[in-house]
Amino acid sequence: AKDGGRNQLQFYTSEMNARVTERTLIEGHLRNALVRQEFVLYFQPRIDCVSGRVVGLEALLRWRQPELGLVPPDRFIGVAEETGRIVEIGEWVLYEACRQVKAWQDAGLPRVPVAVNVSARQFRQSGFVQEVNGALLASGLEPAYLELELTESLMMQNVEGVVAAMCELKESGVRLSIDDFGTGYSSLSYLRRFPLDYLKIDRSFVRDMLHDAPGGAIVRSMITLGHSLGCRIIAEGVETPDQLGYLAREGCDEIQGFLCSRPVPVEMAQVLLTAGG
Ligand code: C2E
Ligand code: CA
Ligand code: CA
Ligand code: CA
Repeated sequence: AKDGGRNQLQFYTSEMNARVTERTLIEGHLRNALVRQEFVLYFQPRIDCVSGRVVGLEALLRWRQPELGLVPPDRFIGVAEETGRIVEIGEWVLYEACRQVKAWQDAGLPRVPVAVNVSARQFRQSGFVQEVNGALLASGLEPAYLELELTESLMMQNVEGVVAAMCELKESGVRLSIDDFGTGYSSLSYLRRFPLDYLKIDRSFVRDMLHDAPGGAIVRSMITLGHSLGCRIIAEGVETPDQLGYLAREGCDEIQGFLCSRPVPVEMAQVLLTAGG
């Protein structure tokens, strides 16, 4: 038991070391990532449950780091948040997403909105609203084709300030979504105060939805709740036809997930748009 304890301690220590090393590595490489143009956007389509058409695209950040390979966002967004670098990265994402969608529109492809993920740190920085307007102006994209995805946890901190900024954004004409809904302990009494256009049901609920009756009931109530708030409902992480069937029957408006497409690079997104727009 003594030895086991020591081994365990060693195990934790080396795991912690590995984590610190990974963090330091990521932090270091992140410093140059923007100037070296290592970021790219992938796009995942959103499908209308009734028409089956592509009705939107979510821009998802990818980092091609020469030494680390393709680094998924879950490995670097947190670090970028902590160091504050997310602000300039987020600005790049915003502008690049607008620019790309405008380019597709100019090329005559079906016009669909692009959804951009906004991190808490980016949203809270003063001047965020101007930054959004700046990206729209610079790209020439009409505001109605830009959606901003705000996480539930972001929205529940400093509700007054968040509501004020969201109202300003709505005045600019952009659309607003609550992302990962159901994971952030929303106060239901606050929800109605946010000027929301879309509610995105988190993937974890979709995953468990068909396993038992409560799982299905929870998703059904989320759809009802979202509709009563005047939102369109998007289900994330839809992977099977059975899930799609249930969601469509329960009145979900749009789905996003591997069933329709994984997030894909620009050229493939263009093909999806042409085929399914
Ligand atoms: P998210 O906003 O919830 O994005 C959806 C994530 O679910 C994406 O992971 C997507 O690839 C994945 N996904 C979509 N459909 C399915 C499915 O059917 N099954 C499964 N298992 N997964 C599915 P990704 O691209 O790795 O992004 C992870 C998270 O990183 C995002 O979660 C978002 O929180 C963050 N992120 C991505 N891009 C950005 C960005 O530009 N800015 C900020 N601040 N965060 C971003
Ligand atoms: Ca999202
Ligand atoms: Ca999400
Ligand atoms: Ca998520």
